[in-house]
Amino acid sequence: MPRFLIVFTMQGKPMQIISICGEDDSSSSRCILQLNEDELNKMFTDGKIKDRVVSVISVAGAFRKGKSFLLDFCLRYMYAKYGHNNLSEKDWLGDENAPLEGFSWRGGSQRDTTGILIWSDIFLYDNPNGEKVAIILMDTQGTFDCDSTMKDCANVFALSTMISSVQIFNIQSNIQKDDLQHLQLFTEYARIAMEDTVKKPFQKLQFLIRDWIHKSEAPFGALGGKQLLEQTLIRKDKRPEENEQLCENLKTSFNEIDCYLMPQPGYGIEEPDFRGCLKDLRDEFKKHLRDFIPLILAPENLIIKEINGQKLKVDHLLKYIRLYFDAFNS
Ligand code: GDP
Ligand code: MG
Repeated sequence: MPRFLIVFTMQGKPMQIISICGEDDSSSSRCILQLNEDELNKMFTDGKIKDRVVSVISVAGAFRKGKSFLLDFCLRYMYAKYGHNNLSEKDWLGDENAPLEGFSWRGGSQRDTTGILIWSDIFLYDNPNGEKVAIILMDTQGTFDCDSTMKDCANVFALSTMISSVQIFNIQSNIQKDDLQHLQLFTEYARIAMEDTVKKPFQKLQFLIRDWIHKSEAPFGALGGKQLLEQTLIRKDKRPEENEQLCENLKTSFNEIDCYLMPQPGYGIEEPDFRGCLKDLRDEFKKHLRDFIPLILAPENLIIKEINGQKLKVDHLLKYIRLYFDAFNS
């Protein structure tokens, strides 16, 4: 059963809401999408949440680049902040010796099922202005790095962008032309599926650059991210000419685009017995987790999902997920 009350310890689990499998019959490259309708119904039509407006935070990007790892720290923030467990904001990051749990991370080189997962605990926030909000965290699994699965990736990215109000695009090292090309392809997929004429169909795109090393060019954090974004995407006189069209397309797809530069987590992550404990992470990395996560998840920064300018409630989100899903499967 889904739970909407959040208790002291983390009790939720990842739930695969959409799976994408390649068709075994090798004559076609069509992929099959499966929707976990029963679970979604149970969760999204519950009387405690169905009439709340919804904020959906998704993380997408290449395989094995720390997406689930980051989301598990987001979960710690969510339980501390919205779970009434009296943790001060200072110690939401948790115990130095606690293994990192939640969405499954690492898992060797084996590929997980491609698809979209949400955390089964949906977090609640009652805004002092009277608005009642439900917050959903979403993980995606795709590969991005192999041509034969490009369609799966596009599907995962497009669907998660359509469902979410914030899409965190997790990238290694720097924003490359490839990343922008992928983004363009994926958002094009989404636009076609939505048959939408709205100018900016999506809300926030948050680039998250992992293992940023060019500190002399731009400092870690949101400020450095802004500088990098200016250079690659915004300032016409600064960005490479070859990116021109890609950048213009992106800017017409998203309402808001931001970027954050994360430092490396340190060598501890390379140890065979690394279990995600804070004690094995560099202070600089922890400092930036403390800084970045509230920028997305603090009450004042939550973005409510909107479609055509209308704030979406949870039961309507369910309707849209079905619609989008059908558009992709037809
Ligand atoms: P996902 O496939 O993108 O969800 O990646 P995972 O979250 O499963 O993490 C894959 C591996 O990346 C794990 O071994 C993590 O320890 C490691 N990892 C997590 N965060 C970072 C990071 O910021 N930089 C680097 N280089 N590795 C990371
Ligand atoms: Mg993952």
